[in-house]
Amino acid sequence: MTAVTPLFRAAGRLVSPGGSNGNLTILTYHRVPPDIDPLLSSDQVDARKFARHMAVLAECFNVLPLPEALERLERDTLPARALSITFDDGYQDNYTIALPILQRHGLKATFFICSGYINDGLMFNDIIIEALRACQSSALELNWLGLGQLPVQDMTSRRGCAEKILSAVKYLPFQEREQACLRVWETAAPGKLRPRLMMTDEEIRHLAAQGMTVGGHTHTHPILNRIDLDSARQDIAQNRRLLGDVIGQEPLIFAYPNGRPVRDYGPEHVKLVRELGYHSAVSTAWGVATKSCDRYQLPRFSPWDDNPKRLVMRLLKNAMTGQHPLTAPNLD
Ligand SMILES: [Zn+2]
Repeated sequence: MTAVTPLFRAAGRLVSPGGSNGNLTILTYHRVPPDIDPLLSSDQVDARKFARHMAVLAECFNVLPLPEALERLERDTLPARALSITFDDGYQDNYTIALPILQRHGLKATFFICSGYINDGLMFNDIIIEALRACQSSALELNWLGLGQLPVQDMTSRRGCAEKILSAVKYLPFQEREQACLRVWETAAPGKLRPRLMMTDEEIRHLAAQGMTVGGHTHTHPILNRIDLDSARQDIAQNRRLLGDVIGQEPLIFAYPNGRPVRDYGPEHVKLVRELGYHSAVSTAWGVATKSCDRYQLPRFSPWDDNPKRLVMRLLKNAMTGQHPLTAPNLD
């Protein structure tokens, strides 16, 4: 315990009091690389930063498994300073790096997994990043993406190039985006084998056996607003069924891919997620979950601070001010 922990706990009780005024901070993590990865964004959380985060959270917050926290939010029995930890996508480093750190602090987390990439798949953003990591040229010709010729002679230029490609393809129709990613791979890393980045079935099963929660995150991670409703239904349903096959029970909590209300998903998807059997869902709108939130669009928060005090201050500020996130209107 540090000297300021009692102060943070007292401040936390004020802004996140529990009971009928309870609010729940839900954190989102993605990859947890072993070291700072120069090709990932600057707000990445690597193993060292993740370990610092967990140490602070275990000291200053009441970290609850998300299903228990949501039930207690509903019943007005949340403790003060309530917080839940989630991971999106199903990266293998969540299992190899984050899980042992969580366990060291006795913390439980929820892992929202895209079933289409389990074992040896790669998500579109990772195809781009890994293509640039494997690239052996000093420049890439990307006229076909409207990007001209981009330098890739060092890690800084490769990171810049990856960002430009990601912005150019992210909102393309799903099939077009897949094709564009394959073309980038063939241009940057022709004939090279893709690395393994995602968890295996066995690892997901083991996560669940350790008391971690597995949640749905679609099969292929489409931006739901960019595909038709039938395809969205199939993708969400297939993900839920396949995860059910892996862990022995279908998941009850869902995370929208990309997750920005209105921009990435709409009220029709909120309705769909409920119809397909989910009990609740989380977005990526920043905020804090309260009882008045739509339980199918619970806001989350992504902290990036390295400094423990700044991390706690940011979380407390979010708990104090982030109670009215933008949500897609509910159809019912
Ligand atoms: Zn995702």
